[in-house]
Amino acid sequence: MSNQHLVAVVGAGPAGIYGTRKLCEAGHRVVLMNRDIKPGGLAEYGIFVDKEKMKTGLRKQFKRILADPKAFYLGHVEIGNDQPLSLQDLQKIGFGAIVVTAGAQGTKKLGIAGEESLGVYHAKDVVYHFNSLPPFAERHFEIGRRVAIIGMGNVMVDVANWLLNHKKIDQVVVVARRGPIEKAYDDSEFEVIEQYLDNADMKQEIARIAPQLTAVGQNVDEITQKFVKQGEPAEGRRLTFRYLCSPNKVIANEQGRVIGLDAEENEMILQDGKTVAKGTGKNRRIDVDCVIYAIGDQVDASLGLPFSRGAFVTNPEKLPGDPNPAAYQPYDPSTKQILDGIFVAGWSRNASVGLVGVAKQDAERGMKVVNSYLGAKEGLSAGEMEERIEALLETLKQKSAEFVTKEDVELLEGAEQEEARARKTWDFKYTSDAKMLEVIAARRAR
Ligand SMILES: Cc1cc2nc3c(=O)[nH]c(=O)nc-3n(C[C@H](O)[C@H](O)[C@H](O)COP(=O)(O)OP(=O)(O)OC[C@H]3O[C@@H](n4cnc5c(N)ncnc54)[C@H](O)[C@@H]3O)c2cc1C
Repeated sequence: MSNQHLVAVVGAGPAGIYGTRKLCEAGHRVVLMNRDIKPGGLAEYGIFVDKEKMKTGLRKQFKRILADPKAFYLGHVEIGNDQPLSLQDLQKIGFGAIVVTAGAQGTKKLGIAGEESLGVYHAKDVVYHFNSLPPFAERHFEIGRRVAIIGMGNVMVDVANWLLNHKKIDQVVVVARRGPIEKAYDDSEFEVIEQYLDNADMKQEIARIAPQLTAVGQNVDEITQKFVKQGEPAEGRRLTFRYLCSPNKVIANEQGRVIGLDAEENEMILQDGKTVAKGTGKNRRIDVDCVIYAIGDQVDASLGLPFSRGAFVTNPEKLPGDPNPAAYQPYDPSTKQILDGIFVAGWSRNASVGLVGVAKQDAERGMKVVNSYLGAKEGLSAGEMEERIEALLETLKQKSAEFVTKEDVELLEGAEQEEARARKTWDFKYTSDAKMLEVIAARRAR
């Protein structure tokens, strides 16, 4: 009896790739299907464009993992209810397990009036744009000169970095529900935009909210010392913060284009030792011509797993075992059943949480659960696995879905590296799927 299985992994970001490694190490064969032509997910299309060392290091690791003959990569293959292949199709083909590591592709907004105006964007779409992911790479963004970024985590810093250092706009206004102490960005990340901080404005802003900070026991002098630096904003480009503000309306002109943001001023209260924002009913207007939401992502419901409040529903039970298997099992609340043989990991399990290392760790813990599930099932012979892979490829061909293999990705990367050398840059990416497929076809024909 074989104890080897054929596993489908949906999504080749860090979670899917590190997960594939664990599955291959356990002796299983993996078909790794990825929406994008190139693997890497947000490591390729999220991490900031100039983090050369980190990006090239991750690319090398991913390439090594995918070189395992037990790993079969299929790029440009999106799984979902409206796609050529659904999760049910994969179940019918007969994979021993299906692992969903598709990240968090849904966008979150605040649900306020005016959100559909021209000039309102989600940070992930903007990040995908400046990282050259099709189709966002070629999409036009009406950025303007004064941009409000809502949220104050590391994604805000990346977007502000692009706007101030690359687009060279006049001003970024960071709008946050709570105060300076509650920032979610890392100081080391912030350094790339610190030179634009309008220190006089920051001093005034902290003085404005001082009574609310004091009310929750925060030390205004210490906060001023930490957050107000010396000097004028570099090159006249300004970075300002509006704390204790919850946007409640995007204001647009007659052409439907953003001209401002209405926000309710907040006070802070302490709840279970944590600061919580509470509206005061008093409004303020922030004049901007673009609004970017950097408030996290949600998973994509069209993937076809039970979904609630922006996340896939997982088994609420606490099952014995470390890691807790239930945390990785999708669960249908209407039938109170888990979806047998299907698992989630990485940002598909816990949207927008943590760096690459966290996604890697989550996938590795998740694959322990998958491997132990597979250990209790009868495996497949090599021939049976081949038949199933053939059936998968046949279904894709019947539906005219154009997929690429890891060999194709290598051809594409070779062409991109040549182009980068010619342009004397460290990196070059084609910006449309059509162009990438054309380049691959041309290289295949050589
Ligand atoms: C703006 C930004 C900057 C970041 N910067 C850093 C940084 O500097 N350092 C760091 O360590 N971490 C950084 N991170 C975090 C890091 O990128 C994530 O922790 C990690 O990428 C999450 O991995 P994942 O595999 O779960 O999801 P993702 O990376 O999102 O990968 C998901 C993959 O699934 C594929 N996919 C999606 N839907 C489908 C589908 N339906 N069918 C098939 N495939 C699908 C996608 O094509 C993608 O390849 C950053 C994140 C963001 C958003």
